[in-house]
Amino acid sequence: MKIKYLTEKPTQTKKIGEILAKEIFKTRIEKRALILGLEGDLGGGKTTFLQGFAKGLGIKEKITSPTFVIIKRFQVPSRNEAETNQRSSTPCSMFHDFYHIDCYRIRKPKEIFNLGLKEIISNPRNIVAIEWADRIKKILSKNVLSLKFGFVGKTSRKITIQSKNVQ
Ligand code: ADP
Ligand code: MG
Repeated sequence: MKIKYLTEKPTQTKKIGEILAKEIFKTRIEKRALILGLEGDLGGGKTTFLQGFAKGLGIKEKITSPTFVIIKRFQVPSRNEAETNQRSSTPCSMFHDFYHIDCYRIRKPKEIFNLGLKEIISNPRNIVAIEWADRIKKILSKNVLSLKFGFVGKTSRKITIQSKNVQ
């Protein structure tokens, strides 16, 4: 599966993230965490996309570009919280935690393993979004939802979403 989008402003990129999160809520739990691998130009919109994605998961905290923090964890609101906090537009999910990981500063894939990545991606209740996933490609399984971000113009970005678990 491969889908391409062209967005003309940040809010459109966020919206695609939000829609994807709501779709993911409907997916069944696998044996391992659900992983989104984000790649592409600096300023391409990876973090912007994840702001919308987190909103779609019902997360209230702001997603920022991590400077020194490489791994950040956010709780995905549970069914009850989602029902009481929100207009019922937020679907409920089996996922507990959303991890935002930025590998920009990672030099060797092993470094991120030392920060606990292995445990994080083996828990099927986690959704894990990894910016600069290409830097740790070697240690990620093929079963990653790949998102590529590219510049087209000053405020246009091309987003390609590809599911690689084709086997
Ligand atoms: P990355 O995480 O890929 O480095 P960011 O999301 O942090 O990228 O930054 C993207 C920058 O580009 C932001 O300053 C955002 O306002 C700007 N921008 C302009 N147009 C778009 C667009 N269509 N989609 C996403 N971001 C855009
Ligand atoms: Mg970023």
